[in-house]
Amino acid sequence: AVTTRTPLIAGNWKMNLDHLQSVAFIQKLHWTLRDAKHDDAVEVAVFPPFTDLRTVQTLIDADRIPFALGAQDLSQHDSGAYTGEVSGAFLTKLRCRYVIVGHSERREYHAESDEVVASKVQAAIRNGLVPVICVGETAEDLEKHGASAVPVGQLQKALEGLPAGTEVVVAYEPVWAIGSGQAATPDQAQDVCAKLRGVVAEALGADAAAATRILYGGSVKAANIASFMREPDVDGALVGGASLLVDEFAAIVRYQ
Ligand code: PGA
Repeated sequence: AVTTRTPLIAGNWKMNLDHLQSVAFIQKLHWTLRDAKHDDAVEVAVFPPFTDLRTVQTLIDADRIPFALGAQDLSQHDSGAYTGEVSGAFLTKLRCRYVIVGHSERREYHAESDEVVASKVQAAIRNGLVPVICVGETAEDLEKHGASAVPVGQLQKALEGLPAGTEVVVAYEPVWAIGSGQAATPDQAQDVCAKLRGVVAEALGADAAAATRILYGGSVKAANIASFMREPDVDGALVGGASLLVDEFAAIVRYQ
């Protein structure tokens, strides 16, 4: 990470913690970080399930808890006959700042193509949300094409047609590292994140590339976060499993 970019530590809860559990969790996390006087220079964001968003938003507003709020997905459409979908406009009204787009679990279990992902990125931006665009290669991709070809191609497609200077967050998540306990090495992460910054520069311009946070995700824990954060092009982490453990997630936030 370089000091001109505020590091972002993002907790992707996936389908865990209902809205009642989310209250206790957010309160505990807030108190844990507050007691330890965590560095305000690190931005903390949580990504609860849709059904928790109102509860978490109310809690962080009322208690002035310094966590940004994000959703895990959004619809390509802003309203209409799309049963079961949630629009970016609704998320903005709940004071979400971020929305994850193109997580590998959406790509795999919901057949989200690069075209769908690009359309969701557009929907996020149209509604004033910052998309956290997830890219990453599977184990098979890695064997066939090396680490960077697939994530580079995914990001190029996701950024197509966006105006220069658009704010996005990119998350490099090798699919083989997600939930496996087998994180990429800091070198591997740096190599791909640097290439992804090159893609942002081509699509959105040099200034945007210098300002864009590029996160690493995939089996991040307290024990390995510092080694990733030492890399110049890694500006934070998208954390799954470890984001559900208060002490572990707090230790990741306080990696310095
Ligand atoms: P993990 O998940 O930290 O449990 O590997 C990361 C993610 O899917 O965002």
